[in-house]
Amino acid sequence: MTIDAKYKCRAVKSPRGASVTEIEWGDGHTGVYPHELLRGYCPCAGCQGHSGAISFVAAQGIALELDDVEVVGNYALALKWFDGHASGLYSFKYLRALCQCDDCEPRSSAAHRDTIPRL
Ligand SMILES: [Zn+2]
Ligand SMILES: [Zn+2]
Repeated sequence: MTIDAKYKCRAVKSPRGASVTEIEWGDGHTGVYPHELLRGYCPCAGCQGHSGAISFVAAQGIALELDDVEVVGNYALALKWFDGHASGLYSFKYLRALCQCDDCEPRSSAAHRDTIPRL
């Protein structure tokens, strides 16, 4: 199986203390991910249950800082948050659908805070 370049993660830029993470994709696209959005769309079972589309869950009273970002296999990122939450596994396909850059945002703004299928 060949993976589409657009679902290959080349680099993750998530400086400590930043409020936005950037991902460089294999097709040259730079994905932009505000942490509020990343955390709100955490796909783990604790945040979202085990089935159904993923909906935005507003994070309240926690520091929206990332402690660690780890590439898992060739298909996902595991995000560890400053408050210890680390069970979210964000597939690259899912992250592409979540992108908030200027190019993707016009399309996704209508869907902003809408549910996103599990990808
Ligand atoms: Zn979660
Ligand atoms: Zn984008």
